[in-house]
Amino acid sequence: MDRAFWKQCGEIGLLCPSVPETYGGAGANYLYNAVVAEEMGYSAYLPGVAVHSDVNVTYLLHYGTEAQKSRWLPGMVSGDVITSIGMTEPGTGSDLRGIRTTARRDGDSYVVNGAKLYITNAYQADLIFLVVKTNPDAGSRSLSILLVEGNTPGLIRGKPLKKAGLDHSDTMELTFENMRVPAENLLGEEGAALHYMMAELPQERFSIAVASQAQAQRAFDLAVSFTKDRKAFGSTIFDQQNTRFKLAECQTELQVGWAHLDWALARHTRGELTAAEACAAKLYHTNLLHRVADISLQLHGGAGYMAEYEISHIWRDARIQRIYGGTDEIMKDMVARSI
Ligand SMILES: Cc1cc2nc3c(=O)[nH]c(=O)nc-3n(C[C@H](O)[C@H](O)[C@H](O)COP(=O)(O)OP(=O)(O)OC[C@H]3O[C@@H](n4cnc5c(N)ncnc54)[C@H](O)[C@@H]3O)c2cc1C
Repeated sequence: MDRAFWKQCGEIGLLCPSVPETYGGAGANYLYNAVVAEEMGYSAYLPGVAVHSDVNVTYLLHYGTEAQKSRWLPGMVSGDVITSIGMTEPGTGSDLRGIRTTARRDGDSYVVNGAKLYITNAYQADLIFLVVKTNPDAGSRSLSILLVEGNTPGLIRGKPLKKAGLDHSDTMELTFENMRVPAENLLGEEGAALHYMMAELPQERFSIAVASQAQAQRAFDLAVSFTKDRKAFGSTIFDQQNTRFKLAECQTELQVGWAHLDWALARHTRGELTAAEACAAKLYHTNLLHRVADISLQLHGGAGYMAEYEISHIWRDARIQRIYGGTDEIMKDMVARSI
């Protein structure tokens, strides 16, 4: 996704709709984000846009200083400032307490050393929300978030990683060698990152759930259209009983999924969706997508495995939804803790 694409997204109001009008945004609530996530999920899911608009911007809105907000929010809305968030490292992903990238305070800056892995948008990012260890001995207050500008000396970008899917999304390793970040770029309080992430991860997970439901609907619609058109054994594939039953099962699951999504959306908009409910939503809707995409591909036969058929892309892209933003297993653990 080149810069012209981001600028176009900004021009038509797709980026960071929750930003107040004073910073150039639409001042909308999460329902607007959800409409964008659904439409993008239905057409071509873009995790880079989702992480920018549904995740990164909320950290700046909730914890940024006035100076930080005025400096970066307008560009995030217009598409001039592309953002990444760096939590995962070569040695740790699910266990965020295992983060080893260090930031040592030295005068009026932090000196950062370490590496981050699988970072979405990292190829072009102008601003990186970087989770670092500022005090290894402070337990749950050992992590902080630094706002790292893309041209900071000591920031080394790797090559775009080759993935099993999501060809249109750049994913990269970042390395930091004695990278100096001005202390004024600390986001919120030093040592508060774990608390901030616990507060913001539910929306990240819910955003993945919303897009997954829409992707599942797209996969289903493609299968209906393909099977009604293609013929075998004297009738359309759609008229075979197996196809009708499989599609009926998918239709039923999608109906339940949309109803659940509306329930969860209403709760999230009122600020009532719990962390466990957001995890349950991610677990449910990403697995729904996984099942529906697989059935829909199967109903396409060999064509479903061909890159020229959209279902092959949905099937490949669907797999990661059960991993990033928190794996199925971590979602189950979070739900189980709430029981
Ligand atoms: C395409 C892509 C884009 C990404 N974008 C970003 C990004 O922008 N920013 C970012 O910070 N990260 C990003 N990630 C990283 C992603 O969030 C992590 O890969 C994910 O959280 C899992 O971490 P891990 O890969 O280290 O797996 P691990 O944590 O090593 O887990 C390996 C396996 O062990 C299981 N496991 C771990 N702990 C437990 C437990 N307690 N109980 C049971 N099972 C457990 C996991 O569920 C998994 O099955 C991205 C990843 C990909 C592939």
